[in-house]
Amino acid sequence: MSTSSSSNEVFYRKWRPQSFSEVVGQNPITQTVRNSVASGRVAHAYLFCGPRGTGKTSMGRLLAKAVNCLQTADGEPCNTCESCQSYLEGRAMDLVEMDAASNRGIDEIRKLRDRVGLAPMAGRYKVYLVDEVHMLTPEAYNALLKTLEEPPPHIIFILATTEPHKVPATIISRCQRFDFRRLPLAAVVSRLEYICQKEGIQIEAAALQEIARSASGSLRDAINVLEQLANYYGSSPSLEQVRDSLGLTADARARQLVRHVLDKDLSAGLKLIAAVRDDGVDMRQFQREMVDYLRALLVVKAGAEDTLDLAAEEVEEMRSLSSLASSEDILRALRGFGQADFRDDPQSSLPLELALADQVLGPSAPAQVAAEEVEPVVRPPFPAGRQAAPPQPPRSRARQESERPAPRPPKPAAPSAEGESPPPEAAPVAGTTAPAEDDLLQRIRLACKEVDHRLAAYLNGTCEVKSLDNGVLVLAFYQQFGLHREKIETPAGRRIVEEAASRLLGQTITLECTACERQRAEGRPSMRGGHLVQAARQMGARPVVGGKGGSSGDPRNES
Ligand SMILES: [Zn+2]
Repeated sequence: MSTSSSSNEVFYRKWRPQSFSEVVGQNPITQTVRNSVASGRVAHAYLFCGPRGTGKTSMGRLLAKAVNCLQTADGEPCNTCESCQSYLEGRAMDLVEMDAASNRGIDEIRKLRDRVGLAPMAGRYKVYLVDEVHMLTPEAYNALLKTLEEPPPHIIFILATTEPHKVPATIISRCQRFDFRRLPLAAVVSRLEYICQKEGIQIEAAALQEIARSASGSLRDAINVLEQLANYYGSSPSLEQVRDSLGLTADARARQLVRHVLDKDLSAGLKLIAAVRDDGVDMRQFQREMVDYLRALLVVKAGAEDTLDLAAEEVEEMRSLSSLASSEDILRALRGFGQADFRDDPQSSLPLELALADQVLGPSAPAQVAAEEVEPVVRPPFPAGRQAAPPQPPRSRARQESERPAPRPPKPAAPSAEGESPPPEAAPVAGTTAPAEDDLLQRIRLACKEVDHRLAAYLNGTCEVKSLDNGVLVLAFYQQFGLHREKIETPAGRRIVEEAASRLLGQTITLECTACERQRAEGRPSMRGGHLVQAARQMGARPVVGGKGGSSGDPRNES
């Protein structure tokens, strides 16, 4: 089924749960499904939603096996009868698996429609398991819908998707829906322990924790990593080997350094930076990881962790770490490390050492002057919601854009296009960016937001409408938002934007993306501040609309 039938999935397939009691971490779902088998009240269509690797297709196969088992006990398949044997050996005729990501065509569904008329070969039910169902074409959806409207009694559809918001409501309404969650760390670890025991792998508990953490709630990813480690290092990989191969070294040490910063432990921090440098770790990458982590800490501290998509354990750990310091301290560290400048030498540890010293010793170093001058303008960073991004290097901005809590006003959002009209010296690109087109962009963004709020965030203040001719919409992305452009240019992103724009404009719109000559204009004509403010902006500081230094005089800034 899944196209990724590489050998590294062998463990995962081998150790798929064979009974409901073996399923980890999805208790309410498992219970409900099992009860429906036990009571003989099985639905005709299920929709399993949730992140990858959380057990949707495993549950689907299990359900298929259970409904056809000749001697279930309490809804559990017996795993011994003729039918169960056929499932265990992968030769069950009554389970049809389709991967909509590869069999997108309407033909497949047509075939399916022809086949659903046929009675099951051996068992009671014929089960169609359609993975990544959101990838079906509209025509295929229609064909599927017709089948779902009048399902033959011996048919069960199990539709699985990582992106339920892309599944038409007409389909969803005909399914019993279950939302699979990311697995808790402990659940992943316990399953890994089980597999290690069965496979004769000796491995420390701490190493399993690291593996589980790296998989962020996906059991499949965790099991695949475990298998790769066992293939590479043999049956007893050490903790160090696990960390090395996970590339966790930089990540874990970035967290450690954050801890030293918040503990104000200069000596430990300097030693750690030196060790990281001596290991040949890319210092900019290390900086980005630190900044990402600090930002997440700030979000957790503000109680907005829902926006971060982290495992519960991780949130707990961050919550305890963030209790070591005030929000202001974390913000100051975020700003300080975000501004560390590696232009002179990407492998130098000096910028991080300076940033560390600044944080620990207090803002007295001369380099701090510019930032201090700007301080009143830059604040308040987070809770204000609008225009409120702490300075960060470009890469981490991508995450930040997508994860930023969304308390911003839904209006033609001042923060982006209107909020940041070009400074006087910057001519609009190609002379086309008029307020009307800013407004168009905002409307498109809002239309996208109804479908996918994360994707919409990539349009927020990152680009402008360059032209709209003959149904071709050209968006020009500002230099520093290349990553945002990539997100928009993915097939899924493109489709959402095109559909939103087409809906909005009443014609079929094709999207083209291009780069914009200039940077996004950070300032506003009326923004006060001289070269120090400019310097701070170049370092990543951003002005706050409506703040003390804001441009209250700008008539376009109503909200
Ligand atoms: Zn059985």
